[in-house]
Amino acid sequence: MRATQLYAPTLRESPAEAEVVSHKLMYRAGLIRKAAGGLYSYLPLAWRTMKKIMQIIREEMDSAGGQELMMPIVQPAEMWQESGRWAVYGPEMMRLKDRHGREFSLGPTHEEMITTLVRDEVRSYKQLPLMLYQIQNKYRDERRPRFGLMRSREFVMKDLYSFDKDIDGMNESYQKMYDAYVRIFTRCGLKFRAVEADNGAIGGGHSHEFTVLAPSGESSIAYCEHCDYAASDEKAELKVICADAEELKPLEKVSTPACHTIELVKNFLGVPIEKTIKAVAFMDDDERLILAFVRGDHEVNEIKVMNAVEGANHLYMAEERLITAAGSCAGFMSPIGIKDAIIVVDATVMEMYNAVAGANEVDTHFINVTPRRDFDAKKIHVADIRMVQAGDPCPKCGKPLQMTRGIEVGQVFTLGSKYSTALHATFLDEDGLERFFEMGCYGIGVGRTMAAAIEQNNDADGIIWTRAIAPFEVVIVPVNAKDSAQIALAEELYNELKAAGVDVLLDDRKERAGVKFKDCDLIGYPLRVTISPKTLDSGNVEIKIRRSGEFMNFARGELTAKILELLETL
Ligand code: ATP
Ligand code: MG
Repeated sequence: MRATQLYAPTLRESPAEAEVVSHKLMYRAGLIRKAAGGLYSYLPLAWRTMKKIMQIIREEMDSAGGQELMMPIVQPAEMWQESGRWAVYGPEMMRLKDRHGREFSLGPTHEEMITTLVRDEVRSYKQLPLMLYQIQNKYRDERRPRFGLMRSREFVMKDLYSFDKDIDGMNESYQKMYDAYVRIFTRCGLKFRAVEADNGAIGGGHSHEFTVLAPSGESSIAYCEHCDYAASDEKAELKVICADAEELKPLEKVSTPACHTIELVKNFLGVPIEKTIKAVAFMDDDERLILAFVRGDHEVNEIKVMNAVEGANHLYMAEERLITAAGSCAGFMSPIGIKDAIIVVDATVMEMYNAVAGANEVDTHFINVTPRRDFDAKKIHVADIRMVQAGDPCPKCGKPLQMTRGIEVGQVFTLGSKYSTALHATFLDEDGLERFFEMGCYGIGVGRTMAAAIEQNNDADGIIWTRAIAPFEVVIVPVNAKDSAQIALAEELYNELKAAGVDVLLDDRKERAGVKFKDCDLIGYPLRVTISPKTLDSGNVEIKIRRSGEFMNFARGELTAKILELLETL
């Protein structure tokens, strides 16, 4: 390809809304352009990289036993109503009506579609296991689309679904996919970790998120340096912290004027924060009030709260009227004496002695609260509902956990028979008995993977691609495009490299050398070959390695061999 024919509009500035480096660089390097919030065009350079990532994904999916197909993006509401998710999915699902008023969604995911497809065709265990996948656009009306391709409303996803005859088969499929994901992200040149994850809205057995380590990432991961434990902060299980036993003092109500935060009440009463109990009030879609209680220095983990309360599919901050109706008041909430609320207490709170908690009255707290004695066991749910913090003991080995940030680029789930049961998808087993499929689902965000690669690989000058996913592996730059001798040598090399199977770009633009060099660094081709008057005089050709900034000189005759050798290392 020649740069004069390439549509890659580079810019000096990035848009003001671009907060993360991948978003800025994709804009500046002419990879993407925005159509509307969370909706982007992929320009040729981006699409070349996306296609390379998709090719790696396809190779690994196919070699793990996957078969590619393509399902409709537009999905009839009936499938979602049958599985029960039409109501549950919420405003994230983009919905539309056809001319007859029939309802549809733009697929955010395809469990319903694939299960319905397989249900109607696969009859016997002999046709299993089955792994079907597609790579297509997905639609999610994200509350806050941001960070460019990282969280958009339309994005390219690979989604594979596995169908097995039993749990063992499902777990084998899961392992195959897990291993394939390790190979995919390794081949893309990413530093990542597979972390234990929450199953989220999809539900089912176990799950891992493949998370690219980057400070700009939206996921927070807890990991242990002493063993292999790693989990998303939503999931990280926590051990109960038992306070040292104390003599129980009598429960007492005290006045705490305007002390509506933990900070204020702890200072006012002069108690350590570990002796306070904090409340967070949520409501769910049915407007049930859900009060979560954790130790004052801990944070509530919304996902864990949701998992602890049956039937809660989304949580929102509670409206004040619900708190008042329950006989309490914001800032002073307590499990003691409250009327109508679902109360979830963190297991660590149950091990506290003589602590401070709200009294469900304005400007009033209880002191000497000992939950085991003072909370009504029949009215509370006790669960691990707190957020992991650096230093918490590792659930596997007990050593202190570390925290880091990352970008979730893929996720693998076992689904069990959740969807096959809901959608009555069965087959006949060896004994002729009707059984539900045991399923798994496995997603990779292609655009997010590209963005994550840039987050991990860039410098002040621009993007630094690894060879495997670079839009072009090598760029040839004749410094003076009007010099016919330079052009002739550049053309010769270009043809030679092409013949050797290298993905090469010839920068034949009549721009100043400085402009071309800047663009090369910004776009981030792994190798740059420079043809200059010096080259013509000496017969040596200069190569710049983008990642290290190193320059090397090779004799014309050995150039292609050397480039092939270098590419192996990039
Ligand atoms: P998140 O928690 O970041 O919203 P998710 O867990 O809902 O993502 P999955 O349903 O697991 O996402 O989708 C599989 C993959 O699709 C994700 O790992 C991610 O790479 C990609 N993906 C999901 N949502 C988006 C989005 N809004 N923009 C770009 N990629 C996305
Ligand atoms: Mg996910």
